[in-house]
Amino acid sequence: MGKGKRMAGWSLVLLLVFSLALPGVSVAEGTMPPSGDKQVDVGRNGMVVTATEEASRVGAHVLRKGGNAVDAAVAIQFALQVSEPMMSGIGGGGFMMVYEKRRDRVTIIDSRERAPAGATPDMFLDENGRIIPFAVRSTHGNAVGVPGTLMGLDTALKRWGTRPMAELIQPSIRMADRGVRVNRVLAQAIQDHQEKLSRTPAKDVFLPDGEPLQEGDRLVQKDLAKTFRTIQWYGPSVFYRGKIGAKIADTVQEYGGTMTRADLARYRLTIDEPVRGSFQGYEIVTMPPPSSGGITALQILTMLEDQHIGQYDVRSPEKYHLFAEASRLAYADRGTYIGDPAFVTVPQRGMLHPDYLRERSALIDREQANPHVEPGDPWAYQGGSATGEATRQEDDRPGGETTHFTVADRWGNLVSYTTTIEQLFGTGIMVPGTGILLNNELTDFDARPGGPNEVQPGKRPMSSMTPTIVFQGGNPVMTVGSPGGPTIIASVAQTILNVLEYDMALKDAIEEPRIYTNAYPNIRWEPGIPDDVRADLEARGHRFEAAPRDIGNVNAIWIDPATGLYHGAADSTREGVAIGIGGKRPRR
Ligand code: GLU
Repeated sequence: MGKGKRMAGWSLVLLLVFSLALPGVSVAEGTMPPSGDKQVDVGRNGMVVTATEEASRVGAHVLRKGGNAVDAAVAIQFALQVSEPMMSGIGGGGFMMVYEKRRDRVTIIDSRERAPAGATPDMFLDENGRIIPFAVRSTHGNAVGVPGTLMGLDTALKRWGTRPMAELIQPSIRMADRGVRVNRVLAQAIQDHQEKLSRTPAKDVFLPDGEPLQEGDRLVQKDLAKTFRTIQWYGPSVFYRGKIGAKIADTVQEYGGTMTRADLARYRLTIDEPVRGSFQGYEIVTMPPPSSGGITALQILTMLEDQHIGQYDVRSPEKYHLFAEASRLAYADRGTYIGDPAFVTVPQRGMLHPDYLRERSALIDREQANPHVEPGDPWAYQGGSATGEATRQEDDRPGGETTHFTVADRWGNLVSYTTTIEQLFGTGIMVPGTGILLNNELTDFDARPGGPNEVQPGKRPMSSMTPTIVFQGGNPVMTVGSPGGPTIIASVAQTILNVLEYDMALKDAIEEPRIYTNAYPNIRWEPGIPDDVRADLEARGHRFEAAPRDIGNVNAIWIDPATGLYHGAADSTREGVAIGIGGKRPRR
């Protein structure tokens, strides 16, 4: 606790100073939803793109005051927990990808949640060996992974930060205390999850007087403000080794889970090297296991390059057909080979070997959908053999929906950060008196044991989160990422394809309708795909879902190689906002 006490002294001063010095950070005053034109911006000295106006304004404020991209990212994560509480927060985990300009290096702070020591491979099976329905297992204490986000923020600040956490958390304390406007996405989320929320103290926050908050209402989170003040005062140790951690463990146990204080005290994050691949001469720097995101996205893109997809129009049946076929091949490998690399050997080199991917790409029939997609044998391309067989999983998991944001600063540093509590509102369990919503990340493990992604104590569940940075000639040109569970990979791959192959402007690339498929024959689709194109694809054997729906929420930055200007763009699937810093009207 020595560190906690040192923080305390600091924090006391900071608390007084910043409550005076930052009155201008009242980001919650707006009552109007952000309009479409707030979703794009240009900046010479910085850029922030997040899924809420409040979080973007907090991040922009940090940059304007001279903070760097990591400082801003930390402030944004706290602000997102306040303004988009169903998506991410210190009760969850995430992957913060940081490009450090000075050292020309990409590093990932991997604060993925871990299974507690008491977790068992069969904990999601009932006494008859049947998988417990998702709605039940995802709201049980066993679904809660030991949260990593706060340690992730702390670690990032210690490595790269120039501002203390106590300062960066302050705007969010104020917002939680005074309330933020409930936007369209939050209102809908509360509406759709009333049952889950009403089981726990979350009901008092989101369903005051038993009624769901509506768009335009104010969401006030006094307990969360108190928790943030406690962290401001004592530092993150109060979460992992102090009274907040104790409350978390007690609450998880109350809901049937095994998590103990020792699990929190034992939590460790990892600092990961990215996985790299190429597409059309660009280098794609992306997320390694325990995420499946980077490998799967690179497999899709490499197969599409092999198929010369660019010869077909972006809305042609041929293009969607190739994308669907490449996706299904890649997702078949994903389910078979990927797990936490600390527990299983992932044949990563084989999975990304050009010859292997040519062999996989050759399985694509350019006319018809392949009804029998099987995983390949990447081990043949890297030596060695599989450590275990994958087990067939029932596909009963609705996609999660969390959040991705990105920051660039005046020094050229970048952050691409996907952060999550898994499903909307996680388990729905709110730790009493703290305002903290607990994740259900452990349902990202296979419910049926046996494969590389089975539950084991201390292990991290396989993710799909794909924070990515694209380079050209050694310089970064784009950051990209999305929420959306397994659909994340498709959203990221299509955005990259639209920009790099189809030369679209960033916002157009994000708005271009996306599809998602992980297995024959179903295709999820966004509005905008022409009827005759869908009819053509159905004739090839694909089956489109009855109605379109949004897929993901891509927030991204394009760094113009000619001018160095940052172009930010937020996705209209939410009320995200891009804010550029400086240089709105470049002199030349
Ligand atoms: N739990 C999901 C994963 O790690 C993330 C949920 C989401 O971003 O939609 O893959």
